[in-house]
Amino acid sequence: MADRLIHDAAAVLSIGDELILGQTLDTNSAWLSGRLTELGVRVVEHATVDDDCEAIAAAIRRLAARSRLVIVTGGLGPTIDDLTRRALADALGEGLVEDGQMLSAIRLYFAARGTEMPENNRLQALRPESASALGNAQGTAPGLHARLEIEGASADCFCLPGPPSEMRPMFEEFVKPRLRPPVGGVIRTRVIHTFGLPEATIAERLGELMARLRNPVIGTTASGGTVSCRIRYAGPEERASAAIEEAERAVRAAVAPYDFGADDDTLAAATLNELRRVGERLVVAESCTGGGLGALLTEVPGSSDVFRGGWITYANEMKLGALGVEKRALEAHGAVSAEVACAMARGALRAAEAAGARAQHALAITGVAGPGGGSKEKPVGTVWIARATTRDGDDEIDARRFYFPGERSAVRRRSALSAMAMLRMALTGAGDSHLLGEQRSPD
Ligand code: AMP
Ligand code: MG
Repeated sequence: MADRLIHDAAAVLSIGDELILGQTLDTNSAWLSGRLTELGVRVVEHATVDDDCEAIAAAIRRLAARSRLVIVTGGLGPTIDDLTRRALADALGEGLVEDGQMLSAIRLYFAARGTEMPENNRLQALRPESASALGNAQGTAPGLHARLEIEGASADCFCLPGPPSEMRPMFEEFVKPRLRPPVGGVIRTRVIHTFGLPEATIAERLGELMARLRNPVIGTTASGGTVSCRIRYAGPEERASAAIEEAERAVRAAVAPYDFGADDDTLAAATLNELRRVGERLVVAESCTGGGLGALLTEVPGSSDVFRGGWITYANEMKLGALGVEKRALEAHGAVSAEVACAMARGALRAAEAAGARAQHALAITGVAGPGGGSKEKPVGTVWIARATTRDGDDEIDARRFYFPGERSAVRRRSALSAMAMLRMALTGAGDSHLLGEQRSPD
């Protein structure tokens, strides 16, 4: 095998009925794409096909015509529905031969475990004539490597076993050493996270920055109120840092003040950092989120220096007894109301003080997470969030009504995130900014 092959573009092919049926999540493609990108190889396509020999062979040939590197995972097991060996042979127009070395390796694998090799496993020693077998230290399925000549160009095809614990080390051992991205080229990425604007508005604000032919190229992904702007640079290594940083500055300027972090940063960590910056502390009072806000905050290591704790006041009696919400307010306005959200936030500040754990900020959440409990005035997804802030005897309160679409879990998560966004933005001086899902007060 040629030892270093130039790969400027790669495709990943996943095989298996279980993937197509939605029973197994295709984590192999995501992992391979992440590694290839880190190694400077541009991934241009993911494809998935069922356990069908003709479909696999056709997919291999199609992808080999599109990119110089095709990585296939799955379908190398010892049963009749494992068809990758046969399909690769068909794609090459060759027959299968038994690889003596691989057969001994598989026999040894079983011997080391004190058993005889079942006759079925003999199938795994087959390989297309021109292919070479790749040893598998973690299991019985050897991988395969072959070169395909298609339309005058040649492509490398690596077939690796489906189980991630076998596929990953084999990628590192056999594929990685043979990669050679275009000379002088690297790929670098950075993701800037925003919360509180719809994706279309982010795209509008980014405008020309999102033009597909730019380098770095910039794209967006939305998930539950968070919109992430992906920056991807491909080119000479010496320009990479400057290009990424320049793009980051441009993106942040366009989406401010909704940007809260980059790459692995979370909204919770960003909120805690703002509290640390100003040297202030937070308590929470949660109804429909049932502790979800506290959970997100405490997931961040070291949160205890600014997050003091809180109350899960799910029942009205708890709102009354633990936070001093007035019965009158509950009866007149209902638990999901501006009055109750504000009373919960104020009550939390007072209760914290009484407990000897003073805080400057309280976030309170009360809403209808569904699926039941909605009404015409307060449909499922209606949530009131209040932020109370007290500094030198000066109290400030900000209560907002939101409507979050979707299932119970989505409503609860969006509620917790929106509460954090309200506080984070208040701390950065952008407290007046409208947040996604926010509704004007009905009166
Ligand atoms: P196979 O090599 O097709 O026999 O696959 C063996 C097992 O590997 C499957 O039962 C899955 O649990 C796992 N597997 C196969 N393909 C993938 C994939 N694309 N992502 C994650 N796991 C996979
Ligand atoms: Mg399979």
